[in-house]
Amino acid sequence: MATPMTAVQIVAQLKKFGIRFKEYKNWETHNRNHKGKWGPVHGLMVHHTGSDSEDQRELLRSGYRALPGPLCHFGLAQDGVIHLIGWGRANHAGNGDDDVLDAVIAEKSIPVDDEANTDGNARFYGVEVWYSGSHEMSPAQYTALRLLSAAVCSFHGWTEGSVIGHGEWGSPGKWDPGYRPGKMMDMDKVRSDVKETLGKGGPTKPNPPRPPAVPTPKPAPPAFPGRQFFRSGAKNKYVTVLGQQLTKKGYGKFYEQGPGPQWTAVDRAAVKAFQLAHKELRKDADGYPGPVTWRVLFS
Ligand SMILES: [Zn+2]
Repeated sequence: MATPMTAVQIVAQLKKFGIRFKEYKNWETHNRNHKGKWGPVHGLMVHHTGSDSEDQRELLRSGYRALPGPLCHFGLAQDGVIHLIGWGRANHAGNGDDDVLDAVIAEKSIPVDDEANTDGNARFYGVEVWYSGSHEMSPAQYTALRLLSAAVCSFHGWTEGSVIGHGEWGSPGKWDPGYRPGKMMDMDKVRSDVKETLGKGGPTKPNPPRPPAVPTPKPAPPAFPGRQFFRSGAKNKYVTVLGQQLTKKGYGKFYEQGPGPQWTAVDRAAVKAFQLAHKELRKDADGYPGPVTWRVLFS
């Protein structure tokens, strides 16, 4: 149990632990404190965003209609940089199990979560790791997660027992942070790694900066095959390629079954959403890719 850190305190703590971070917009005052309690806090909750997109700041900041932002405090990018998204009450934990909360407070092993009766948004700091959860997080993300956990825990005098996964909390259907589809990481292993980081006093080995960029030439984007491949009844490899690229760009949520060769209404909806999200494509946003949409999508 603890009073939450202030924005100034968390920044100092990140620096102390050698964590690379960036501040996003007015994160220090962006919160939902007008909607409910913030604090006392008892731990750090780990999430995956469910998307491999490389810039997830705005979604985490603003949220969406059913779930307004901020959706976390920390956004953890693929390169290990922590983006500060909001500070205060955030919509990340939802309701969970009071028995789990009691275990976190006592820093004892976490019981099976079978209730959703307790407001987690008041009680936890939240880190959203930018990956789908259907594969492992990047090594840089995992290193940064260990350091962040140690930074938060050491400020409050907590042990690794104050770090939990969203999937342990009791929100129905949650399995984050994952390592393959539907499978949560072994959080006891994560905690034991955090313990090791804490034991070293944390920042003995600071998060290494990215090695200098080796100029690898970007592969040329595939040429636009032609409009005839993307219309009702079409079935071909270009539809699959298109769907995979849309997924990479963060439009995977349209595909319940994953992109395939058959051109469907789902492909069209995903293309249209992509077009509407890009100023230069908006006026012709009909859900059918042409050469310009193709170039923007693969750039
Ligand atoms: Zn989550």
